Amino acid sequence: MASIRRTLSPYNDRSHQNGANTPFSPQSPSQKQFPQGKTTFSPVRRLVAGVFFRKHQTRKNFQFSWNKSLLRCFMCFFLGFLLGMAPFNSDFSELRQGDLRKSDFSIEWKPEVVSVQKSAGDLASIEKLKENDLLVGAIELGVLDKTDMKKVLDFVAGKQLIVVSPTYSRAIQAYYLNRLGQVLRLVKPPVLWIVVEMNEASVETAEMLRNMGIMYRHLVCKKNNTDVKDRGVHQRNTALEHIERHRLDGLVYFADDDNIYSLELFESMREISRFGTWPVGMLAQSKNKAILEGPVCNGSQVIGWHTNEKSKRLRRFHVDMAGFAFNSSILWDPKRWHRPTSGPIRQLDTVKEGFQETTFIEQIVEDESQMEGIPLGCNRIMNWHLHLEAHELAYPKGWVLPKNLDVVIPSK
Ligand code: UDP
Ligand code: MN
Repeated sequence: MASIRRTLSPYNDRSHQNGANTPFSPQSPSQKQFPQGKTTFSPVRRLVAGVFFRKHQTRKNFQFSWNKSLLRCFMCFFLGFLLGMAPFNSDFSELRQGDLRKSDFSIEWKPEVVSVQKSAGDLASIEKLKENDLLVGAIELGVLDKTDMKKVLDFVAGKQLIVVSPTYSRAIQAYYLNRLGQVLRLVKPPVLWIVVEMNEASVETAEMLRNMGIMYRHLVCKKNNTDVKDRGVHQRNTALEHIERHRLDGLVYFADDDNIYSLELFESMREISRFGTWPVGMLAQSKNKAILEGPVCNGSQVIGWHTNEKSKRLRRFHVDMAGFAFNSSILWDPKRWHRPTSGPIRQLDTVKEGFQETTFIEQIVEDESQMEGIPLGCNRIMNWHLHLEAHELAYPKGWVLPKNLDVVIPSK
């Protein structure tokens, strides 16, 4: 064993001799400057050195040379195998650089109907995508990195819509939730409906959500009722916290359960990049007339505002809660968006009534230049904010009306 150690010892011994702490050097092991002292080595180093530095073998350990020859053979084979793989890898890196045609893969392109309405630029990209069957192959093989893959998938499937609805128990809650749920069911996926209740999740809402057939999250806002002015504000904040914590990706839209929404509104929203806005139709019950609140646009550029209420003239942005949507990553990726404020983005319960929307929006955009009037929305009304509450009506347990039998069929 001593001779083996001597044979295999140069690197450590030399570093020791030089007083340096360099365990390995590319110098030839045949250099005679190494002392023949006994030093111990790890089995791996012994093996590697033994395989490659045969010169130091003596007759005594001739028997070992067979094993070593075999090992050498195996390692040469292994090296050859690795080299054989090299061109394969370089093709993949070419794929990443977009030079797709150089590769020899031929994966069949299965044409898919992309029915989400897209801009002319996007349609051109779809054509490009069809040409590049390799891109599809690259996705299937997992060759594209995560970001590239996400870009492609985003644009084929359409951006996710994250619809936030605060709700509470009242006589017509079932009607409102069912109506909104059924609209959302008709919107092309992906749509995530976040329904938030105060204090506890009601059985009725949970059951309705279970049977609706859409993706949802049923959240509960735990907030001491005594210091709450507007419960809806805290419920929306519970949803914002959830989106931020779980980094949900999509376009956030506050859809109160009692408003009226058209399908095209949800499709149009998908075009938003940072913050999109549109005018909402409202019914001023006191004046018995319909009014508009929201942006006046020139193309997608916001150039002014519709507003009718004098008490709200001092607002910075004249947008209704149902008249805007924004990219969820603004909540959890502030650096990407150069946000005007640094803290968490939340609705404020302390502001004057009617100022909730503007104080919220001021945390997301600096001015109108960072807003987009959505393509279909600036000259059309696509949703309505009506005030048709029946606050006095009692909430029927389980949404069942058991004592509703007013006419009894007389028995013969
Ligand atoms: N909301 C709620 N709890 C309440 C009051 C309201 O969850 O105590 C919800 C309500 O279901 C709706 C939103 O908050 O989705 C706005 O409420 P409301 O329609 O009463 O407000 P308005 O339309 O008058 O602004
Ligand atoms: Mn309402």
